[in-house]
Amino acid sequence: MTTRRYDFRSDTVTRPDAGMRAAMADAPVGDDVYGEDETVAALEAKVAELTGKARGVFLPSGTQSNLIALMSHCGRGDEFIAGQDAHAYKYEAGGAAVLGSIQPQPIENGPDGSLPLDKVAAAIKPEDIHFARTRLLALENTIGGKVLPQSYVADAVALARRHGLATHLDGARIVNAAVASNRSVKELAEGFDSVSVCLSKGLGAPVGSVLVGDADFIARARRLRKMLGGGMRQAGIIAAAGLYALEHNVARLADDHARARRLAEGLARHEALTVEMPQTNIIFLTADASVAKGFADHMAAQGILVSGRYGQQRWVTHKDIGDDAIEAVLDAAEKFFAGL
Ligand SMILES: *Cc1c(COP(=O)(O)O)cnc(C)c1O
Repeated sequence: MTTRRYDFRSDTVTRPDAGMRAAMADAPVGDDVYGEDETVAALEAKVAELTGKARGVFLPSGTQSNLIALMSHCGRGDEFIAGQDAHAYKYEAGGAAVLGSIQPQPIENGPDGSLPLDKVAAAIKPEDIHFARTRLLALENTIGGKVLPQSYVADAVALARRHGLATHLDGARIVNAAVASNRSVKELAEGFDSVSVCLSKGLGAPVGSVLVGDADFIARARRLRKMLGGGMRQAGIIAAAGLYALEHNVARLADDHARARRLAEGLARHEALTVEMPQTNIIFLTADASVAKGFADHMAAQGILVSGRYGQQRWVTHKDIGDDAIEAVLDAAEKFFAGL
């Protein structure tokens, strides 16, 4: 067995470094279900400030954060509009339907990740006993590593408002979006009633998300968190990692984006690979299925891990991927295609 050297499968694979572990070890803690953990409170306040919202609540995962947002905005038999490719619709095991009795209304994402607004408008149901009540528009930024155009976001939020819908942003990677677009997180969060931010993706914390919104929304979210089993006790131990990540790992996201770009440009030199140029830290490429499999196997034999199947691959850069990793992949690619 080869040792695992470079893991490009996801930005969730990062390990806490010594500074982060020290911050975790030293964190003041209390019972957060009693509201007595000052590190958790500090993290919630920091993310609320970062996003320009009144309050935040610390949660074990982005999946729980999206579910709680949906359940806090929508009741049983209500409906939310989201992208066909949205994490909250496609990659959360149908939680909104199963646990929230909330019906999804998916809409095909455009090539830039947006939901065409004419389609969104057409999907909003009028008041009629035949229909579920459309309550919420949920967007995602970044989506598939792409930053939503900010003018589109403003139009989408305005459309939702005109129809009396609440708005949620799955901002698992909103900090990547902010760094890539040279805008503040607050600007990207503007107009949304709630935003979910992941600390365990590019930011490099081992666990956790923060959901933000106004005081009433967060009060409902706290009850739902308890209901769903997400009330944690001395959670300051893990919240400290999130605080550390926000203090140390934001500016460096630009390095991940630059490395992704360099990797994409290097891989694109091989004719057999069709590479989408990345805006942030995620590269998608396609190839003939057998070539893609051979390529991934060749990489794996050298301890380079990538995700994907059926001729599609996803390469993700992150804190634990340095310049040496990019060189290793590009060298391995040269050898693979020279030998084909
Ligand atoms: C990863 C991710 C989530 C879920 O986060 P987990 O902590 O893995 O549950 C939600 N939305 C998006 C866009 C994500 O990338």
